[in-house]
Amino acid sequence: MKQLSENAIRVLEERYLVQDHSGKVIETPEEMFRRVAKTVASAELKWGNQKDADYWEREFFKLMSELDFLPNSTTLMNAGTGYGQLSACFVLPIRDSLSGIFDTLKLAALVQQKGGGTGFNFSKLRPKGDRVSRHGGTSSGPVSFLELFNFSSDHVKQGGKRLGANMGILNVDHPDIFEFLRLGSKENRVRHFNLSVGITNQFMEYLETDKPWILINPRTKKVINQVSPKAIWEELIFRAWESGNPGVIFLDTINSKNPTPSQGEIQATNPCGEVPLLPYESCNLGSINLNHFVRSKKGKHLPDWDRLEEIIPQAVRFLDNVIEVNHFPNSKIKKATLANRKIGLGVMGWADFLIKLEIPYASQEAVDLGEELMQFINEKSHRASQELAKKRGNFPNWEGSIFAPDIPIRNATLTSIAPTGTISLIANTSSSIEPLFALAFERRNVLGEETLQTIQPQVLNFLKEKGILSEELKQKIVQDGTSTDCHELSEKDKAILLTATEIDPVWHLKHQVAFQKFTDNAVSKTINLPFTTKPEEIGEIYLQAWKEGVKGLTVFRIDSGREQMLYPGIKS
Ligand code: UDP
Repeated sequence: MKQLSENAIRVLEERYLVQDHSGKVIETPEEMFRRVAKTVASAELKWGNQKDADYWEREFFKLMSELDFLPNSTTLMNAGTGYGQLSACFVLPIRDSLSGIFDTLKLAALVQQKGGGTGFNFSKLRPKGDRVSRHGGTSSGPVSFLELFNFSSDHVKQGGKRLGANMGILNVDHPDIFEFLRLGSKENRVRHFNLSVGITNQFMEYLETDKPWILINPRTKKVINQVSPKAIWEELIFRAWESGNPGVIFLDTINSKNPTPSQGEIQATNPCGEVPLLPYESCNLGSINLNHFVRSKKGKHLPDWDRLEEIIPQAVRFLDNVIEVNHFPNSKIKKATLANRKIGLGVMGWADFLIKLEIPYASQEAVDLGEELMQFINEKSHRASQELAKKRGNFPNWEGSIFAPDIPIRNATLTSIAPTGTISLIANTSSSIEPLFALAFERRNVLGEETLQTIQPQVLNFLKEKGILSEELKQKIVQDGTSTDCHELSEKDKAILLTATEIDPVWHLKHQVAFQKFTDNAVSKTINLPFTTKPEEIGEIYLQAWKEGVKGLTVFRIDSGREQMLYPGIKS
């Protein structure tokens, strides 16, 4: 088993390891990995015997305890505890009736109670002021119900460990779109929600010529108003500039890649955006730690394609097994999830991987490698799912899917790029496909009031290998969180160690596009921007993202006032 970092042990003890009734931790990290491996491997009994289950238990234990691959937090926390809900991602539909709204609110609370994040599209709800009954009542509109959902999340701790996380979407043709946009503000009235505007291709086309855009009442289908698409766009980018909210999701792009179009349209994603899902679907995620997939040859570091090829089918098998041993919050979620069997295999440690290979994040070489890597992972994942289908069968909705009639396959989707906010901390590597946030940073709100300090281990290794790591240099990097003022480093080395806000947003987007090309689900990416960024620049990024086939994205302007978790440099 790999040695865990001090931060990893602290987070595991606080939130992942089993505790007794008095809150005392009664499990070691090694026992946690055994608990998860045993539970996930027990699915093998359905198609094989105890020997198969034992074999896979050992393999899965190795995968996790070597920190080569980790499933999403909920699987680590809940597998084998009797709590049993292992998926991180859910989408729940909201019907346009009071009982429909409260049914969903209750289900969302139950999902969150056991650690899941929920995404909703509020666009079916009639607008504010619309008729409610024959007795002359009026609706308070989707925004007020979103606030209600937020209030509920204030009181439902996810798995008793973290506060509820939600995605709230309103489509761009809803009459309450401006009110929704104004939710994105410094005051952040809905702190448990990521907000996204559901944007269509038609809107983007109207925007180009500023042709009047119609807002439609979803109940009556009547046109309520005509507005300038530019007015919507400007409000959107201003709010995103001001607070990082709302982001955007591109509904037509998502639906053009919907693997099961016969099952209806996708209208929403999970909280961080990496999984577009049909109503009531859930999805479980897992990420390969790329930092462990570099080999040395004649003093040069290279991607270890062979080991990657080995691990991908194991990870796919792991995630397909998770669906099998999962406990679902209700029968609708069970039915929808089992019908498509979506999983989301992704990566973490991309920035660390690039540093090891000495390739600057802001370079075409890195973008090309990202595309090659994700194509490799996607193809091998599909192949693994096809292998599984031979014994386990296709996913039930296979007929009418994009795979029928030629390609037997076990899972409707295989890949997602999740933020890996906590599992990257456990694996002690950089998160997801993000560049390093800073060379050293403080993370607040992960352990209540406590602050976690991180000095990027890969950065210290890099400097050590170059033979320039002195105590003085280390202190400077730790203080500043960047190497820009360190005269010991060459310009090339500094380019390799550039951090998120020092990298031009264009490169952030290029990485997202490269990974999205070969990701079945979506890529969760935050484009971190310097404080001085202007609203128009955010507009340019959103526009470019749409043109390049990105499914959705979020921007975050550093120090903009929105609740921030990461702070560059360690000052104390
Ligand atoms: N998630 C959540 N609450 C959180 C963090 C994450 O519900 O506080 C869910 C959400 O659906 C998110 C997904 O988990 O999109 C994956 O997030 P991440 O990769 O950061 O999770 P990790 O497995 O690292 O905890």
